[in-house]
Amino acid sequence: MATAKGIRVADLANELKMTPAELAVTLNDLGVNIDGPATMLDEETARTVREVLTQPKIAEISAGSTVREVAEALSMPVNTAVKKLMEFGQLIAPNQRLDARMAEKLAAACGYVLRVKTEARIEPKPAPVAHRGPAGTMQPRPPVVTIMGHVDHGKTSLLDIIRKANVAEGEFGGITQHIGAYQVEVEHEAQKKRITFLDTPGHEAFTEMRARGASVTDIVVLVVAADDGIMPQTIEAIHHAQAAKVPIVVAINKMDKPDARPDRIKQQLTEHNLVVEEYGGEVIAVPVSAKSGEGIPELLEYILLVAEVQQLQASPSGHAIGAIVEASVEPGRGAVATVLVQGGTLRIGDCIVAGPAYGKVRAMTNDRGEKLQKAPPSTPVEVLGLNAAPAAGDTVEVVKNEKEARQTAERRMSRARTERLGGQTRRLTLDDLSRQALEGIVKELNIIVKGDVQGSVEAVVGQLNKLNENRPDEEVRVSVKLSGVGSISESDISLAVATGSIVIGFNSRPDPSAQRAAERDGIDVRTYNIIYDLTEDIERAMKGLLAPVFEEAALGAARVLQRFQTSRGVVIAGCTVTDGKLVRGAEVRILRNKQLLYTSRIDSLKRVKDDVREVAQGFECGLTIENWSDVQPDDVLECFEMKQVERV
Ligand code: GDP
Repeated sequence: MATAKGIRVADLANELKMTPAELAVTLNDLGVNIDGPATMLDEETARTVREVLTQPKIAEISAGSTVREVAEALSMPVNTAVKKLMEFGQLIAPNQRLDARMAEKLAAACGYVLRVKTEARIEPKPAPVAHRGPAGTMQPRPPVVTIMGHVDHGKTSLLDIIRKANVAEGEFGGITQHIGAYQVEVEHEAQKKRITFLDTPGHEAFTEMRARGASVTDIVVLVVAADDGIMPQTIEAIHHAQAAKVPIVVAINKMDKPDARPDRIKQQLTEHNLVVEEYGGEVIAVPVSAKSGEGIPELLEYILLVAEVQQLQASPSGHAIGAIVEASVEPGRGAVATVLVQGGTLRIGDCIVAGPAYGKVRAMTNDRGEKLQKAPPSTPVEVLGLNAAPAAGDTVEVVKNEKEARQTAERRMSRARTERLGGQTRRLTLDDLSRQALEGIVKELNIIVKGDVQGSVEAVVGQLNKLNENRPDEEVRVSVKLSGVGSISESDISLAVATGSIVIGFNSRPDPSAQRAAERDGIDVRTYNIIYDLTEDIERAMKGLLAPVFEEAALGAARVLQRFQTSRGVVIAGCTVTDGKLVRGAEVRILRNKQLLYTSRIDSLKRVKDDVREVAQGFECGLTIENWSDVQPDDVLECFEMKQVERV
């Protein structure tokens, strides 16, 4: 009761619908110590307490947050949030997104006012890298070249011979390091010029980098073996380069071979819109041999000519931006990333963000193993200091400080997560697929099958199709995107990336380059030699793909005989179990005159003085209910649990 002198702790607690013990915590926070519920508080203190406790708590979330993220913002366990949502008639899994209306409802139920940060604060997708330095600082920069072509036409050999012939031997002991890209120096019109080569030949890497927003390549060298001709991957490479609007220089390789027929190649090129100069076109075709070295200096000359026409420029001034060429985590060194600087100058000590990774440049090494203090445009450097390995093609930028770097990286990760939840990602593992479809996002389980012999491939595909036939009503279906005989190759992985598939090998394993590609691209490759294991895994994933069904399972009921309150203010319901059993930790509904008051959880359960896990029918017990102290004699407590029912 309030008097002129003030108010008792117990009365104020009653007024604020809380226990004296709970009020004591708030008072303690305010620096007021009390002896017990009878302590008198002056009016001023009481007013402050009322203000503090009636003021809404504010929680902030981003639009599109998941249940887990909202629960975190509301400082509540995620399971409690899921249960609360069920009470609102919403079955939403922890990693599913919560719409703003439901998030607000959930927050209100916990005494919070929710602020939803709008989409505008979510960072936009990084735009393709563009860098302009201050006026007058633009300078010519070395061209960046990617070598493409059909398998075995000599891409790797060509990269090797160019590197060997043009890295100044002696000066650095001729030591070259594989860092995913290298630079050579060439005499051109009595001047020393540099060319940067990306060391990952093939159009998959090129396209993959483009897909991530990095237009790194200025010139494509298309390798065609003079003794072979235009092959499927040659055509693909032409398409990829043309799609990216990157000029092509053709290297007609293996000219040392007796059966080399360069004219036939030139003729064939014309059929693919690459008309060489001799036929009145503008495409340069250079006969070379990666074996003898014939034609290599001319090839480099032509590359520089094409670069001149393009007038490639960049400013070495200002903070660097660039792209990741390759990255991995190495024991003892941490994340090792090759960065191709595209504009500005990268320096030791710079704080950088690379895709979802961030850090401070601790050390920089070029392809000759030299330690660098700074790296100007078109320079590939191996960088130490990132917290994780980004993906090839991720953009790299220098930011003000480590805090900004971390925050930008975190925003990107959160965006990636949102996109993943939105089903926009292409890269998945079987577990991911299973989880995503559990959340209702994925309806198709895409699979690429490789097997040792035609018979086994057919058997596997037959069994997988049977999974669909056996479950005609299910929403989630298996879709075989490709099946074939042989080991799992890099191009299988590319297709998996393009189609969002997992790759299954039956008595077939990935070759080393496919293994690397799968690791790089996060493709799930699973190998089996027992067909039953294979179909069982897929079937289990499909089951996981189906939306979960929760069912309420009644455990028991009790009647409240008496309400106790401990000296510390904890409210205990003294009950008799009238039906089934009560279980500690289980859900409980509180009913008064058959009216539902609240649904919560049995926090603690005691028989006489001992803590127990459960109490059976006919016994008396004392219990506390999470977040609920208003118990009265004759209240009915219904105890139940929510069970996920597995679909069969
Ligand atoms: P990639 O698959 O395009 O990278 O091709 P590689 O560089 O691995 O070369 C495939 C095969 O062709 C290897 O056995 C090389 O030794 C051989 N090769 C490459 N270039 C030449 C060349 O100019 N002349 C001859 N005779 N063989 C070559």
